[in-house]
Amino acid sequence: MTESIVIVGAGQAGGWVAKTLRDKGYGGALTLIGDEPHRPYERPPLSKAVLAGEAADDSVHLFAHDVFDGLDIDFRPNQSARSIDREQKRVLLDDGAVPYDRLVLATGGRPRLLPMPEAIADRVHTLRDLADANALRATLQNGGHLTIIGGGWIGLEVAATARKLGCEVTVIEAAPRLCSRAASELLSAYLLELHQANGVDVRLETSVTELDERDGRIVCTLSDGQRQETDALLIGIGIVPNVELADAAGLAIDNGIVVDARGQTEDPSIFAVGDVAHRFSDLAGHHRRLESWANAQNEGIAVGHALLGLGRPAEDIPWFWSDQHGTNIQILGTPPDHATTIVRDGDSDHTCFYLVDGALVGVHACNNPIAIRVATRLIARGIPVTADQLADPSIPLKSLLKS
Ligand code: FAD
Ligand code: NAP
Repeated sequence: MTESIVIVGAGQAGGWVAKTLRDKGYGGALTLIGDEPHRPYERPPLSKAVLAGEAADDSVHLFAHDVFDGLDIDFRPNQSARSIDREQKRVLLDDGAVPYDRLVLATGGRPRLLPMPEAIADRVHTLRDLADANALRATLQNGGHLTIIGGGWIGLEVAATARKLGCEVTVIEAAPRLCSRAASELLSAYLLELHQANGVDVRLETSVTELDERDGRIVCTLSDGQRQETDALLIGIGIVPNVELADAAGLAIDNGIVVDARGQTEDPSIFAVGDVAHRFSDLAGHHRRLESWANAQNEGIAVGHALLGLGRPAEDIPWFWSDQHGTNIQILGTPPDHATTIVRDGDSDHTCFYLVDGALVGVHACNNPIAIRVATRLIARGIPVTADQLADPSIPLKSLLKS
């Protein structure tokens, strides 16, 4: 009998598992179950070009339609996997069951919410999918004032796009600095300056204590006692990984679905990948859960290999990017707080290298993509560099690859 592989979650990670399986010659049955109406798509444009109205919905698909059709997938859009019957190896849907030999959970995450008064609920947005982006764009196109709760990536990217569309924007961040989960103190400071220079009102160490409606406007009472009148709210305070299916099936959960370096859970027939997976990283030497485009793609490909018994492709150094107010921001690696920082600034670019015990472990670069490309190779090849070389703008970074 032919084998059956079922993937739950038709997002970026699920899409890459399916494509890799076919690319590598898997000829068995392949089912992709997704609770959205769309074929797999990429989310980064949702806070950028799609939100700005500069890119159409169908520009975000992961694969061209003819490529996706050629994968011969039993694609089930608008279908939610409700539970997993591990004994009989079936995924239960609202109207039936799909048998599996191997199952991949690629269920991603959903926006973390805050309790909201009923009266303003229709003006409160979150941003995770295309429907959210379209609803938020319709609001922003009216102009007016947007208040964003959360100064993380969603908050900052939407702030930049909303300013482009002519809105007034306030960002309320509970922590003392922006993007504190992913950015170093130096990068947080850079982002603060960038947003303030572009007219965003950023309030750090502040939270919303009360929300009311007055004369058709939303009134936010802030923790410092100030009041902010606004026309719409965006909540961007992080995601909750969608672990419920795995949890109910008795799989180990710890800040995500726990998997080994190959993406396999303790049940050898079940894998997890993408934002939902708390994976053992050989590079880091511990489990970690990454929420990024590169992780969804690379680990989707890696799980495709694992399902076919092929060797794991080399693990990539974590890499993130963002675009805000015309500035390209990239982060490579996850340097520890005690890393030595080496700043290298140019006229219109800002770069910071991170060293531990003299070895390069990471970099953040604003409008300096070459720094990321060079650092990726320096780290991967273990090429030694000195702090003086990195700091000296008269030494071309590319020349360090020759040392
Ligand atoms: P998802 O893309 O969330 O896909 C999971 C899918 O599973 C969803 O379609 C979900 O509806 C579905 N699903 C869940 N449960 C079920 C179920 N029970 N049955 C069926 N289907 C189910 N990263 C970057 O590195 N750079 C960026 O610039 C960037 N920008 C971003 C902008 C936005 C607005 C967002 C939301 C994210 C951004 N990211 C960015 C993060 C990146 O998009 C995610 O890390 C990536 O999408 C994760 O992929 P995934 O497949 O794990 O999850
Ligand atoms: P995020 O990056 O985790 O940021 C959430 C921010 O909100 C954090 O700074 C958090 O601070 C803060 N916060 C939490 N509770 C708050 C409260 N009650 N009041 C005010 N601030 C509060 O998550 P996100 O920005 O919501 O993004 C959601 C997902 O999309 C993530 O997976 C993210 O990686 C992804 N995304 C990525 C990109 C990119 O990589 N360019 C772009 C957009 C979206 P604490 O950390 O202190 O809790």
